[in-house]
Amino acid sequence: MAKIVYFNVSEITRDYYKENPLPVKAETVFIEKSPADLTADELKNVSDADIISVFVHAVDVGARILAQFPQLKLIALRSTGYNNIDLNYCKEHNIEVVNVPGYGDSTVAEFTFGLLIDVTRKISRSFRAVQEAHVATDRYLGFDLKGRTLGIIGTGAIGRYVAKIAKSFDMNILAYDPYPKPEFASEYGFKYVSLDELFSSADVISLHCPLTKDNYHLLDETAFNKMKKGVVIINTARGELIDTEALFKALSAGKVYGAGLDVLEYESALIHDDLYLSALNANETDSLLRSLINLRMLQLKNVIITPHVAFNSIDAVHRILKTANDNIISFLNGKTVNSVLKKSDKPV
Ligand code: NAD
Repeated sequence: MAKIVYFNVSEITRDYYKENPLPVKAETVFIEKSPADLTADELKNVSDADIISVFVHAVDVGARILAQFPQLKLIALRSTGYNNIDLNYCKEHNIEVVNVPGYGDSTVAEFTFGLLIDVTRKISRSFRAVQEAHVATDRYLGFDLKGRTLGIIGTGAIGRYVAKIAKSFDMNILAYDPYPKPEFASEYGFKYVSLDELFSSADVISLHCPLTKDNYHLLDETAFNKMKKGVVIINTARGELIDTEALFKALSAGKVYGAGLDVLEYESALIHDDLYLSALNANETDSLLRSLINLRMLQLKNVIITPHVAFNSIDAVHRILKTANDNIISFLNGKTVNSVLKKSDKPV
């Protein structure tokens, strides 16, 4: 009988799996923490796992952790992204890795617009003013999206859904993708342009591409210099696509009007830890600097930061949990679906 260990198990996840048990004989163990946060004894108790399932918050599933599971045959991710997994180790040790593609294009796109409207109309900021009984209407002057130009970077499932929503806001839409698909441009009503043209023309830039080995700090100082003054930056993709320091400077200088960030470099500190402690504990100059900039960014009035929750609707979470278990059932029945190793020549 296979032993399956689920990590990062929230109450919703536990309830879902209780109501929807696997239709195969298996021993299942549910653990709240990430594998890297387990004590040596806790790890030993589950080291005979055949299958482990982790969520995106398990940030470091590297060789050191994977070596603790000598019988491991499958990692069933409860996420699309797999940049947290040591795929080379998995290949070398014959461990299959499967993910959950396309569970939340509309979910993340809706959240993208939530962030965007919060930045352009200062909703959170004016709510805080009401809470503090310190309202000054002039401070929350925003601007309309109608007629403005949106630049979408990455025209995959989420980017296209963002275009669909933007159309109903009467926005002009430009897009950049290194693998453009002209049929999408006509179907969703956007125009493919070069990255430089997108930078110089867009009033709002929204990131929807994976993090690859080629696009680390895609938005750096040079990129910000090419943008319009007053551009809005939205990032629901991956924190490392933006050079945090360059963004902070551009925000402070008024070059960038505002930013809505669901993801950040060194975001695990934001999600799990005390930010001040994590800055104190940072072991490299670079991570220390960027953790400190995150702290400064939190204090800016023209920034809204959320803790990597764009996916987090009950509908999307249920789709993730269902697909992750369908992947496990297929694997146990001898058929691998949604293999990440097959497409890992394009790592995210
Ligand atoms: P997708 O695979 O459907 O589409 C990605 C698109 O990006 C593809 O069209 C690809 O050609 C393009 N691309 C690749 N490299 C690029 C580059 N350098 N510049 C511009 N475009 C590039 O992915 P998706 O489902 O639309 O998701 C997009 C990203 O959103 C994911 O990679 C993930 O990082 C992020 N995401 C975040 C959350 C969240 O909760 N914040 C949830 C799901 C996905």
